[in-house]
Amino acid sequence: MAIHRTPPDETRLTLVLIGPPGSGKGTQAVRLAERYGIPHISTGDILRAAVRIGSPLGQQVAATLASGGLVSDGLMTDLVRERLGQPDARPGFVLDGFPRTVVQAEALDDMLAASAPAPNPSLPNPSLIVLLIAVVDGAIVRRLSRRRVCASCGITQSVSEDTEPQADPCPYCGGRLVRRDDDEPATIQRRLTTYASFAEPITGFYRIRPRFASVDGLRHADEVTAALCAHIEFFKDQTSGRSGR
Ligand code: AMP
Repeated sequence: MAIHRTPPDETRLTLVLIGPPGSGKGTQAVRLAERYGIPHISTGDILRAAVRIGSPLGQQVAATLASGGLVSDGLMTDLVRERLGQPDARPGFVLDGFPRTVVQAEALDDMLAASAPAPNPSLPNPSLIVLLIAVVDGAIVRRLSRRRVCASCGITQSVSEDTEPQADPCPYCGGRLVRRDDDEPATIQRRLTTYASFAEPITGFYRIRPRFASVDGLRHADEVTAALCAHIEFFKDQTSGRSGR
């Protein structure tokens, strides 16, 4: 595939959101994508869609998704490289769910370096902004067990604690609210265990970078968005030399 040359770093906004399942990454990624006019790329959404339509990729990953384990680094890296090569990702992107391992994070650096060479090739790509949404485990289990997705409009929402998995209609379109297969309690636990084993290395990989920030994901979603945007604006100003922090 042809590599698209990208705009200079000052105008390109490349964001990675990291955090445990249920930290609100998806919700925040959608908001950031809308605000900055860049695509939201969720590897989980891409894989679930593939499973739904039964494509070769879907057949390959269905069992892994159902088990709460991780798809191989090679497959994920190829998938993301292909997606980031599409024209809508030229002005930038919000990555949600990738990278999850250090191998994937190194591959992402290589992809970015190939599309927009860094001034100093021996340093990691300076334009990448990495934002961690931090939430403790107990809160995650509660959140995920209340999470539902509308089968018609696809909007993710939260129901009250004692609601049966598929009891209420979607408040936006009246569609059927369903629990994601991987939000079943047993799978939640496995996903958290999987996350825990990869979280520390990936966070450690990015934490030492100048454009890394962590926000408290337990706050109201609007406050989380405001905190994320404040970091993004600061990092953007830094690039353009306007920072005053
Ligand atoms: P998510 O919606 O991000 O929680 O992803 C749902 C599932 O897709 C995960 O539990 C994994 O099985 C798989 N998955 C998504 N992204 C990745 C990735 N970067 N590496 C490996 N597996 C992934």
